[in-house]
Amino acid sequence: MDPNILILGAPGAGKGTQSRRITEKYDVEHVTTGDALRANKHMETEHGTPASYMNEGELVPDPVVNEIVKAALEDADGYVLDGYPRNLSQAEYLADITDLDAVLYLDVDKSVLVDRLTGRRVCDECGANYHVDFNQPEESGVCDECGGELVQREDDTEETVRERIRVYEENTQPVIDFYDDEGELVRIDGEQTPDEVWDDVQDAIESSV
Ligand code: ADP
Ligand code: ADP
Ligand code: ZN
Repeated sequence: MDPNILILGAPGAGKGTQSRRITEKYDVEHVTTGDALRANKHMETEHGTPASYMNEGELVPDPVVNEIVKAALEDADGYVLDGYPRNLSQAEYLADITDLDAVLYLDVDKSVLVDRLTGRRVCDECGANYHVDFNQPEESGVCDECGGELVQREDDTEETVRERIRVYEENTQPVIDFYDDEGELVRIDGEQTPDEVWDDVQDAIESSV
């Protein structure tokens, strides 16, 4: 059985970057609510479209997100879950539908997050992510992995980033504390280089599973 891994951290902490490596090494699926919502951002739900929340940096309502996660986890034989749960009610829902083997937390100071997010560039073909200063592609604007075009996410503007960090502190910090209190959380210094973080991530997975 492949492991069920949860990766937690603030917006910009490096969850997507590390999750990509996890999927390759441990042969698990990357389940990420952010990507799933972006792929369905104009879908009409009884709560309005996901885009109407995402562009403001607010959380998409729980019923919409819970349904996406349930379906994705049912289909996955081993996963790394990234971007969920973002509040306590999502954490309770998750506990009802699955068992986790490892809970990782990428610890990054708030002061670092704004620069990471406003400088983020994402491949519009394969989703690989880069940074204009910290993680540059070989050729500016072009994905190393697939040659796709690198674009800036609509919600990676400074104003929306600041709101996302505020929403994180209010709603998601209690989720971190919840797993910490349960003794399940492995804290990783997310301010190291991506390769150093990756070393710690592998150690944490291998000692938890
Ligand atoms: P998250 O999924 O947690 O929001 P990302 O993995 O998308 O975070 O990373 C946010 C930005 O920071 C991206 O531009 C990425 O290239 C960059 N980044 C990721 N990890 C590091 C790191 N360890 N040091 C510096 N920059 C990083
Ligand atoms: P980041 O990589 O910066 O952490 P994500 O791609 O995970 O951002 O999420 C982008 C946006 O999608 C969030 O700001 C929020 O509007 C929405 N979203 C993603 N996951 C959830 C979730 N679990 N609950 C509610 N909204 C979510
Ligand atoms: Zn690409």
